[in-house]
Amino acid sequence: MLKYDYLIVGCGLFGSVFAQKQTHQRGKRVLIIEKRNHIGGNCYTEQIEGINVHKYGPHIFHTDNLEVWNYVNRFSSFNNFVNRPKVCYKNKIYSFPVNLMTLYQLYGVKTPSEAKSKLDEVAIPSQNPQNLEDWILSQVGPEIYEIFIKGYTKKQWQKEPADLPASLIKRLPIRLTFNDNYFNDQYQGIPIGGYTKMFENMLKGIEVKLNTDYFAEKSYWDSIAETIVYTGKIDEYFDYKFGPLEYRGLHFENEILEGDYQGNAVINYTQESIPFTRTIEHKHFEFGQQPKTVITREFPASCQKDDIPYYPVNTKANNTQYECYREEAEDKKTLILGGRLGAYKYLDMDDVILSAMNVANNIK
Ligand code: UDP
Repeated sequence: MLKYDYLIVGCGLFGSVFAQKQTHQRGKRVLIIEKRNHIGGNCYTEQIEGINVHKYGPHIFHTDNLEVWNYVNRFSSFNNFVNRPKVCYKNKIYSFPVNLMTLYQLYGVKTPSEAKSKLDEVAIPSQNPQNLEDWILSQVGPEIYEIFIKGYTKKQWQKEPADLPASLIKRLPIRLTFNDNYFNDQYQGIPIGGYTKMFENMLKGIEVKLNTDYFAEKSYWDSIAETIVYTGKIDEYFDYKFGPLEYRGLHFENEILEGDYQGNAVINYTQESIPFTRTIEHKHFEFGQQPKTVITREFPASCQKDDIPYYPVNTKANNTQYECYREEAEDKKTLILGGRLGAYKYLDMDDVILSAMNVANNIK
């Protein structure tokens, strides 16, 4: 008998949830190995000046799934933070996501019906808009596209919006009410005390080896467990045999300042000429009153083989290439792939948790 039932590669959400379920519900023998020097993957938070800093960009937990919500609440309490980002464009602040206040700021419309008439007037109809640009123009017209979407999207994806799938922008609501909640989901919040603490609780009683690179000794790790649960890049797993998949990277610049910098957790900078996409002021995620403040400017970046991948770039061509890898993985009965990178999908945290729960529950 091998030493472990599961060797889990990567200590992010998929790996941690899968490990928690298999260890505590099924009594399986599990080992997690993690390349970085910390748990939590890109959800990781680190305390600086008494503030939980989201080291890999803002993570705001939201879900419509009660089972997922109850599950995460077993490992942390959540506060009632609601994401209400603002947009800064040419030095003016706008309400965002596009809602009745935004439309009032732009056009002076004050009611849902006035707003609807205005959008009908400015929208550029399109029969069956497939790409991001045509879709957003068909909803809100060129001015809103220019102020809120075009520059940010070009910076974020380093592609023309006409070459991107509409699904990217359909993540964002467009509302004719004054509701400026970024998410439509019923449950939302930030783990009180930070994500890292939530992961520590989830991983209680589970063996985790940090600073451990699976690929440095792949055959050894493969030899000690019945099944490998791999949550890293699928193309890397197969040694890039169908070519490297495209990912977007990020680069962060932090500053510690006095007081309150921007009065909000997230402000998006949508002009193309400004190199960062957003500024995060971490203490606002937990309504912090600390004398100092930590702010982060988030810069989109290319993603080379050794960089941390943040976003899959789900164009048609890339998805087709991914399918080759997925088919290859299907043949391996002792391999489970999961998470944003394993699935090459723009999954939110709750999607990842749900898929890990389902995969863990469905194993016979
Ligand atoms: N987006 C935009 N302007 C904004 C915010 C988002 O055009 O001010 C577009 C952009 O293309 C982005 C997508 O909407 O990639 C999804 O945004 P979301 O805030 O969901 O991105 P995440 O927080 O996952 O990076």
